[in-house]
Amino acid sequence: MSELLKVHNISKTFRRNQVHALKNVSFECDKQDVISVVGASGSGKSTLLRIIAGLEIPNEGEIILEDNKINSSEVFLSPEKRNCSLVFQDFALFPNMSVRENIFFGKNASKNKPMIEELIEFTRIKNLLNRYPHEISGGQQQRVALVRALSINPSLLLLDEPLSQLDNELKHQVRNELIHLIKKVGATVLMVSHDIEDAMYMANKVLILNDGVVDQIDLPSKIFNLPSSSYVARLFGKTNILPFNDFSYIKHHFFDKDRNEEVVSVRPHEFKLNHSNPSSKNPEIKGKVLSINAIGAFYEILIDTGKFELLVHIDKVNQIKTADDLSLYIDKK
Ligand code: ADP
Ligand code: MG
Repeated sequence: MSELLKVHNISKTFRRNQVHALKNVSFECDKQDVISVVGASGSGKSTLLRIIAGLEIPNEGEIILEDNKINSSEVFLSPEKRNCSLVFQDFALFPNMSVRENIFFGKNASKNKPMIEELIEFTRIKNLLNRYPHEISGGQQQRVALVRALSINPSLLLLDEPLSQLDNELKHQVRNELIHLIKKVGATVLMVSHDIEDAMYMANKVLILNDGVVDQIDLPSKIFNLPSSSYVARLFGKTNILPFNDFSYIKHHFFDKDRNEEVVSVRPHEFKLNHSNPSSKNPEIKGKVLSINAIGAFYEILIDTGKFELLVHIDKVNQIKTADDLSLYIDKK
């Protein structure tokens, strides 16, 4: 078997409130995959990680990690016997233990001392070892939590929204550090993120959870360009969901359950002014500018075609104002 992790038909209902947090979730994870789990709040992301870590028991399904069954109808391996580590959203460092004690808390940590020393050097926390969690910054707590998680040399690292507690500036720095750390130790990672940018930067695969169901698992670029549902398309940034009937020259289309029709997703930047590429084969779209906002290097424009309202991003080099008539085309096959 080449997969490191196999999750097969996992379902979880919380008895207390009868919430079906996960429904028949199946996927596989290869060695050194970095899979980003993305979904709206309450879609079951943390529950999935907690089940894999052994902190929740699924009602149904099977999980195999490195050829060992860790969950099935007969088997439940306790968290400390699973070869995986979970880093919680709030890092969950022990407040009454020093950084050093936190890091060496794991049962097998003392066996991996040289590797841990190297991680401590790599993450630049050596001068913090005698401090307590409340005496270090959020970014530093994050690094300590990661080193602690890696101290048992897990075959799978589970990260629940690792960057969500950090402010924007720190986030970009920590994101890069995290990418380096993952590469350095060759970790296999399943990482929850509600930030699409994080997912795109860090992951080689993205798994989309929609109300406890896997909507799509794919390369980040495919999720962005070839979404399988309107939910997936919208999770990955602003888009126009339009009837396939009116835009049948766009190849990739999918069924929208709420609208009960086939639709296409056209991102705002995929609209172009017609004069900028007269050789375009796609049909002309005419519309009037309803509103216009200058956002960084582009205009965000709401356009009324008479049939649709379109959200369009156009380079600021163009002179455009409210009530202008525009001629556009979609630069996409
Ligand atoms: P996410 O991490 O995607 O925001 P969660 O996995 O935390 O979502 O939760 C999924 C659903 O399960 C939510 O509706 C949540 O309220 C419910 N849930 C999570 N944990 C529990 C619990 N311990 N008891 C009851 N319901 C829970
Ligand atoms: Mg969560």
